[in-house]
Amino acid sequence: MHQHDTSTEVLTQAVVRYAVDRVRLDPPPLDGPRTLTELRAMAGRTVTPQGLGGLEALRVFGDVLAPACISVDHPRFLSFVPAAPTEASVLFDLVVGACSIYGGSWLEGGGAVFAENEALRFIADAAGLPAEAGGVFVSGGTAGNLSALIAARWRWRQRAGGRHDRTRGLIISSKGAHSSIAQACRAMDTDEVQVTADAEGRLHPEHLRAAVAALSAEDRDRVFAVVATCGTTNAGVIDDLTAAADVAAELGVWFHVDGAYGGAGLLAPSVRSRYDGIERADSFIVDPHKWLFAPFDSCALLYRDPEVARRAHTQHAEYLDVLHGGEAEWNPSDYAHHLSRRARGLPFWFSLATHGTDAYRDAVETTLAVAKGGARLIADAPHLELIMEPELSVVLFRRVGWTGQDYQAWSDRMLAEGQAFVVPTAWAGEPVLRYCVVNPRTTLDDIRLIVDSLA
Ligand SMILES: *Cc1c(COP(=O)(O)O)cnc(C)c1O
Repeated sequence: MHQHDTSTEVLTQAVVRYAVDRVRLDPPPLDGPRTLTELRAMAGRTVTPQGLGGLEALRVFGDVLAPACISVDHPRFLSFVPAAPTEASVLFDLVVGACSIYGGSWLEGGGAVFAENEALRFIADAAGLPAEAGGVFVSGGTAGNLSALIAARWRWRQRAGGRHDRTRGLIISSKGAHSSIAQACRAMDTDEVQVTADAEGRLHPEHLRAAVAALSAEDRDRVFAVVATCGTTNAGVIDDLTAAADVAAELGVWFHVDGAYGGAGLLAPSVRSRYDGIERADSFIVDPHKWLFAPFDSCALLYRDPEVARRAHTQHAEYLDVLHGGEAEWNPSDYAHHLSRRARGLPFWFSLATHGTDAYRDAVETTLAVAKGGARLIADAPHLELIMEPELSVVLFRRVGWTGQDYQAWSDRMLAEGQAFVVPTAWAGEPVLRYCVVNPRTTLDDIRLIVDSLA
């Protein structure tokens, strides 16, 4: 298994060719899910004492398993938050896998960590965070939000000098916040006050202040963070970050900004002013695997004062202590709830280094223009109604006269026909349609196809 012989050579050619052919497909087939029973029958037994051989295992993957995975980068995959990794980033992902890099410490992975930190610096600059800001790439927004809030709670307890070591903490977020915030609170045994959002799902400054005013003195003492979202997942709207930062400052607590989806909009001059206040964040996340054209899985987690995060997260063990205590080296393991890690920021870094940051700015603007152009098509279509003007690249709309079942039947048919993947969502308790554009290959004609299919 560990020597390179002629059969490995054959397999190398086949695997690399498979990967390169997939990257070349424009567009890739949309594909679609199969049931467990279907996959059992089609794939047969794959893990056997003697092994299938690499070429046969690759055949099973290519013929049976890959087609049972929807291509997230298809230009008409517009559900949830799609992905659209650049060719450079996907190809470099192969290299990262081949290089056996341990991305947790400077001692073992310094070259990779250096490059990842360059990419993090680019994001920190886009957000206007200070020169000392820094962080780490984690698996996704869920891991990033949890790690940021663990650091926030650590600082609150530290500042309380022991008074809050056993106090259950409390965070203030909004109804528009992503489910991973509530999940982080469950994991941390923390309470969450979700402030009522405005009609479009933004954190509402007056409701925020009212919610704080309504807290008992004891509860106010338990608050350790205010969480705002720049780009809610369901509606793509940006909270009033300045108001949220003000409230966090008045309470003397941590200000966390979740930009897992929408943080990429920082690069687009056309919407940049909407993010004012983000430069005051104590922590900020954005997923390059969403709207920054990197492969899964990748979330950039940044801290204003990384030293707080390091003290909150560093693991101590006899066998690890050799990693600590050198000069001011950067050990990515110390900045999140993890230890071993893939250098998962490298595909993003490689693509940034290849194409330059202007290309990223332009690509984000392209997707914004298509999303907004599509909203105009919807507003002009007699059979459709736009629910709100899009602020970023999420568009919510309804088909006049349709029920939830009608939406689902249409959505299933579009996927079965390989046309598009657009699933219904809910807005104000009503089933509606939603699309999210993060793929620069998605064109206005793609949206037109969807609009016409709903007539
Ligand atoms: C997608 C998303 C998350 C979760 O990110 P994962 O990478 O899926 O874990 C968190 N917050 C927001 C706003 C998101 O859009």
